[in-house]
Order: sequence, then structure tokens, then C-alpha cells
Amino acid sequence: MNNTDWGNLPFGYMKTNYNVRCYFRNGKWGELEISSSETINIHMAATSLHYGQEAFEGAKAFMGKDGKVRLFRWEENAKRLRNSAKGIMMAEVPDDLYFSAVKKVIELNKEFVPPYGSGASLYIRPLLIGTGAQVGVKPADEYLFMIFVSPVGPYFKSGFKPVNMMICRSFDRAAPLGTGHIKVGGNYAASLQSLKKGHDGGFASVIYLDAKHKEYIDECGPANFFAIKDNTYFTPESSSILPSITNMSLIQVAEDLGYETLRRPIHIDELSDFDEAGACGTAAVITPIAKIVDEIENKTYEFSTDGKPGKISTKLYKRLQAIQTGDVPDEHNWVELLDI
Ligand SMILES: *Cc1c(COP(=O)(O)O)cnc(C)c1O
Repeated sequence: MNNTDWGNLPFGYMKTNYNVRCYFRNGKWGELEISSSETINIHMAATSLHYGQEAFEGAKAFMGKDGKVRLFRWEENAKRLRNSAKGIMMAEVPDDLYFSAVKKVIELNKEFVPPYGSGASLYIRPLLIGTGAQVGVKPADEYLFMIFVSPVGPYFKSGFKPVNMMICRSFDRAAPLGTGHIKVGGNYAASLQSLKKGHDGGFASVIYLDAKHKEYIDECGPANFFAIKDNTYFTPESSSILPSITNMSLIQVAEDLGYETLRRPIHIDELSDFDEAGACGTAAVITPIAKIVDEIENKTYEFSTDGKPGKISTKLYKRLQAIQTGDVPDEHNWVELLDI
């Protein structure tokens, strides 16, 4: 048994027992391998190192009250990883391989699934990289698909509390016809400077605008943006947004709870009309936003002045978490109970 202090886990990497790996060679996927090594050995001319042939996923597993491990919407992660692979010309991971890999890695590390009620969960990080050597710019002919896991605490130590964000006008994360809609490492490299700028300014994250007009909301750092006005959940539509599975789920939960939902381009001027705003993603589920500062235009949009999250954001957050841990019925078949 391990003696992890589940209640005080950071959101970070922690070594576990095993990871799983599978190689694509000679046009086909091989056997799933189990490894206890934290390192990988690849060719120095691998395309992932030079030309960014790299995609990843992020998902979570939760321990339910009944002692069963629950995996949230894995088919959506598998589908998105296939899309990312297609987008940068990598071998696609079939869904059955994805599932057997994720099930195996959780089973092998079951003692690291944080207990029910701890607020912690098991973070799952699938990775797909070009390992074949190339010097000319072309896709590799060999790939590595691997998954490691790490128990993680809540993303924000302060808990479910509104944070401040900054409009990013000096950087773009992704281009309209670029790779913003797929989950590739290159997008993250492109976001590091702007995130640093935001953090240095005392902001939890930055809000990217559409790269072409710099007028519409794109994303909140590595999370989707949503807002609430009257009884409607709004979220931006744009070709450079990464389709968040959390956002997709919140839209459904909002509809289940009787709210209207609308996905359409959101002009920055509309920010002054919204009652609540937030960022959403697997890591934090929802990060409520207190205020958004647009330094260059000298404007501030406020959504919370009392340090408390909005009523509807709170309802959505609680409901989605309850589905993930099995506290309320899983009406949409989002949760896979693992027999491990
Ligand atoms: C992964 C990611 C998200 C969140 O997606 P989820 O599936 O909800 O975790 C949002 N934006 C970007 C850029 C991402 O990479």
C-alpha cells in the first residue's frame, strides 16, 4: 500500500508503478507493453523532436463511493486523439487499443486511484509521438502510443473560487486554419510566453482572441470559455478552439437542468452583458472568472465582486462532478465502470 497524503496532493506529476506503451511499426500496431521505466528511448532524428509530431490527451478516473473506478467519457478522448493524429499525419490509435491501454494502466496502478471524497483523482495522460527518423519534412513511419497516470489534487489549491484573467492581445495561440482544434504539443509551446506574461501580471490565465480579427473570444489558456446570461449558457464557436469534452458535457448538463445553450462567435464587447463567466477543462472542471482585464483597451469586465462563484456555474460544476464520481445517475452513459 502507499501512504500518499490524498488530501494534500498537488496537481502535478507523481511517480506510479507502471505505464503502458505500444509501437506502430511496418504499418501496424504491435502488442501492448508494460513498463516501469519513466523514460523512453527514441531516435535522435525522431519527427516528434524536430517537427512536432506529437499529440496528447488528458482524462481522469474517479473512485466512487461503491469502491469502483470510473472512467469519464473515454470514447471522446479516443476520438479526439484520432483527430489529432490525422491533423498532423500520425498513425491513428484504434479505439479498442486506446481502451485496453487505459484500462491496463489504471489496473496496474489501482493503489494510486485517490479514495472517494478526497477531492483528488487519477489523471490520465495518453501520448502519441512520431519516433521514426526523418530529416526531410515528412511524417514518421514509426509511432509510440503510451499512457501514464498520476494521482492529482484539485487544479487550484484555493478551490472553487473565481480568478482573474487577462485578455491576450500580444500573442495568438493558434491560427484560424492552423492546429488549434487538435490537441498537439505545438499549440502549448506557442502559448507559453503569453501564459507567463499573464502569470507575471497576477492573472490566473489569459484569454485568447480570434487571431484574424482580434475581436471574438477563442479560449482561456488551455481551457474553453463559457458565460451565462439570464438562463443561457454561451460558449464561443471558432475554428481555432480545441473541442473540450468538459465543455461538451457542461452543455448537456445545462440542458438537463433546464437552461438554454448557445454555441456561436462571442464578441469581446458582449463580455459586459454576461452575469457569470468561467473556463472549463478536465483539470479543474470549471474555473469561475471574477474579472477579465483588457489592459490595452483599458477595460475591465466583472462577474463576481464578492469572491464567490456564480449560482449557475456552481450548479453545473457540482452536477458534473457528481456524475463523474457516481453520486448521481449517469443518464448519458458517460461513465465506464472498470472491472479491475
Ligand atoms: C485539453 C484542452 C482543453 C480542455 O479539454 P477537456 O477535454 O475538457 O479537458 C481546452 N483547451 C485546450 C487548448 C486544450 O488543449
